[in-house]
Amino acid sequence: MINNLAIIGSGPAGYTAGLYAARANLEPVLFEGLESGGQLMLTTDVENYPGFKDGILGPELMKEFKAQAEKFGTKVHPLTVKSVKESLEGFELVTSKDTYLAKSIIISSGASAKWLGVEGENRLQGYGVSACATCDGFFFKDKTVTVVGGGDSAMEEALFLTKFAEKVYIVHRRDSFRASAIMQKRVEDHKKIEVFWNKEVGEIRGKDSVSSVELKDTINSEILELDTDAVFVAIGHTPNVGFLDGLLELDENGYIKTGFTTPTSTSKEGIFAAGDVADSIYRQAITAAGTGCQAAMDVERWLES
Ligand code: NAP
Repeated sequence: MINNLAIIGSGPAGYTAGLYAARANLEPVLFEGLESGGQLMLTTDVENYPGFKDGILGPELMKEFKAQAEKFGTKVHPLTVKSVKESLEGFELVTSKDTYLAKSIIISSGASAKWLGVEGENRLQGYGVSACATCDGFFFKDKTVTVVGGGDSAMEEALFLTKFAEKVYIVHRRDSFRASAIMQKRVEDHKKIEVFWNKEVGEIRGKDSVSSVELKDTINSEILELDTDAVFVAIGHTPNVGFLDGLLELDENGYIKTGFTTPTSTSKEGIFAAGDVADSIYRQAITAAGTGCQAAMDVERWLES
């Protein structure tokens, strides 16, 4: 059996694409992937998704996205797509279990957390090194923790960690944050948070768990050892495109290039992309949902033509 549309990824882009495609009677199949629900599953309060004036918890929002897509007939599979190949009738998707055929594909596989790549980071993952304060912050009640990064994610992680930790350091490699003004202000005003400007992490130390980080000053190269019980890395994300194995053109940052014929079209006819995997600029739940809708409408027109 060949499906009209296979959607790869289960964040706001994937589920919105599912919702629209299902309502257009395309009977889409959606593959959830490894990180079911996407990055919002690792978030607490989402305050900037329109329609929720008091905010909503990230996992709660994703539960609603999924339920709405399923309500209209999106068939959700708890499987990960391992590879995509062209076939006679369209595309062949090899998943962690079965192989599926589809006439068209929407790739909404999102992006995953980046790591620093310093000594100790890998060895101490799960022992104080984390990329998810929502998942691991609870373990550091009354402790000292360090967040690395200067974007909205770093601000959000630091603010969240103040709920548990006694002291929260932020280590940033420049002398100004790239985070939005409102998040910066919340961080500046928080008495538990202290910022180390112009510092890079050289090493994460500890025998069985994190005990300190070595910081190097980016201006005068001075070395400093900072005692900490945990390191939360919040330095951005990498688009999840590995399973495509060169099938599509990517931009200079590794994100899927779109806009060939329609806004969400890719370099391969019949494959469309939506959400963070194709967006290195906005990367918001609302923009992901918006492009998911566009992709479904692009697919509908493409299948008709
Ligand atoms: P980001 O905006 O790309 O920021 C990454 C930060 O990490 C930058 O400050 C960067 O430093 C630093 N960095 C990158 N590589 C590094 C390295 N190897 N060593 C040390 N520092 C490094 O990523 P993000 O914070 O994950 O945010 C991504 C997008 O999601 C943004 O559009 C953001 O607005 C959005 N977001 C929004 C919210 C919200 O509104 N509640 C929450 C989270 C994320 P430089 O500044 O020097 O480049």
